[in-house]
Amino acid sequence: MDLSSSFEQARELMVRRQIEARGVSDQRVLAAMREIPRHIFAVRTHQNRSYDDCPLPIGFGQTISQPYMVAIMTQLLRLTGNEKVLELGTGSGYQAAILAKLANWVYTVERIPELSEMARLNTVECGLNNITFVIADGTKGWPDESPYDAIMVTAGAPGIPAPLFDQLAEGGRLVIPVGDRFSQTLKVVEKIGGVKRARDFLDCRFVDLVGEYGWSEP
Ligand code: SAH
Repeated sequence: MDLSSSFEQARELMVRRQIEARGVSDQRVLAAMREIPRHIFAVRTHQNRSYDDCPLPIGFGQTISQPYMVAIMTQLLRLTGNEKVLELGTGSGYQAAILAKLANWVYTVERIPELSEMARLNTVECGLNNITFVIADGTKGWPDESPYDAIMVTAGAPGIPAPLFDQLAEGGRLVIPVGDRFSQTLKVVEKIGGVKRARDFLDCRFVDLVGEYGWSEP
């Protein structure tokens, strides 16, 4: 069997055993997870573990999230295809690629320039052309293109950064892990009539969101 078909097989098993079996049911999310080749986003030394049930290191002390976490966070945004989405924490670009399959346009913000460039190349390799890469402190959001129908934060925050709620459209959804530096709770925040409605989902562990409305430099 050649390498690409073994990756394909591993990806199908990843979707069935790690994602569908744990209750992710949004068919568009499942299709995107089947379509995007996660191994493109893994660093070469970890490529053989691309479809394993765990996060993977991507350099600079950062990680690409576990496949299930990517799927559940994406499902919580309830995307239909027309949305303008903001992601904070580009990393490898994998989550941005999944979002780009499911929304109209994705703005993704990263503080480490080398990761942003690597992510851009990864998404080009996937043939995606509806992502804008921004290098900035994402805890301040990206006001230039606001409001956003959906916002996803893929690093752990000490609280909900005020600028992110401000940049959320009416009826929009924000998914963010909030807690201390070791463990967080995944929260979904909705803006309804301009008012914040927050719900807790699951316990999780992310790398730090570092910036003005996040943690200070390690
Ligand atoms: N979504 C990524 C994984 C994110 S890891 C993927 O699919 O691969 C978390 C990322 O958030 C890291 O790359 C880290 O550098 C970045 N990050 C942390 N604080 C940030 C901030 N204030 N603004 C933008 N990016 C930030």
